[in-house]
Amino acid sequence: MRCPYCRHADSRVVDSREADDGQLIRRRRSCPECGKRFTTVEEAVLAVVKRSGVTEPFSRTKIIGGVRKACQGRPVDDDSLALLAQRVEETVRAKGAAEIPSHEVGLAILGPLRDLDEIAYLRFASVYRSFDSLADFEREIETLRAVARAREQGRADAVEAAGRTN
Ligand SMILES: [Zn+2]
Repeated sequence: MRCPYCRHADSRVVDSREADDGQLIRRRRSCPECGKRFTTVEEAVLAVVKRSGVTEPFSRTKIIGGVRKACQGRPVDDDSLALLAQRVEETVRAKGAAEIPSHEVGLAILGPLRDLDEIAYLRFASVYRSFDSLADFEREIETLRAVARAREQGRADAVEAAGRTN
């Protein structure tokens, strides 16, 4: 790796450590010419294959940009968006493929976005799944209600189970 300070063609690795749960490796490097130190990050390239067949590197920034549009006017902060993008990346990387179709990236966004904000989720899903009628929205809202009910039920079950063990 070329030194970013003096452009010397080589550098020496003085330390390597995993970051982000082994998703990346950070290397501390030293330039034998000017003695300055710098850090590089190495990570497996994950390519997203668009419908057109064109591939582009997976980007959390792109995920955040897309989801932010759906979150306009909603109480969703930047930290939540960053966390969502991280969850999406973990989901798609967990598939273990070097290339992933863009619609799978969209699918991976739906779950965490539903947990984050139901209105933003509906907006995103309506574009992503090309809703073209009120019936599409009704179906999706019914699903949201079913998920909320299941959650309530799960909570009730947990409380009941805790009651039994005490
Ligand atoms: Zn140098």
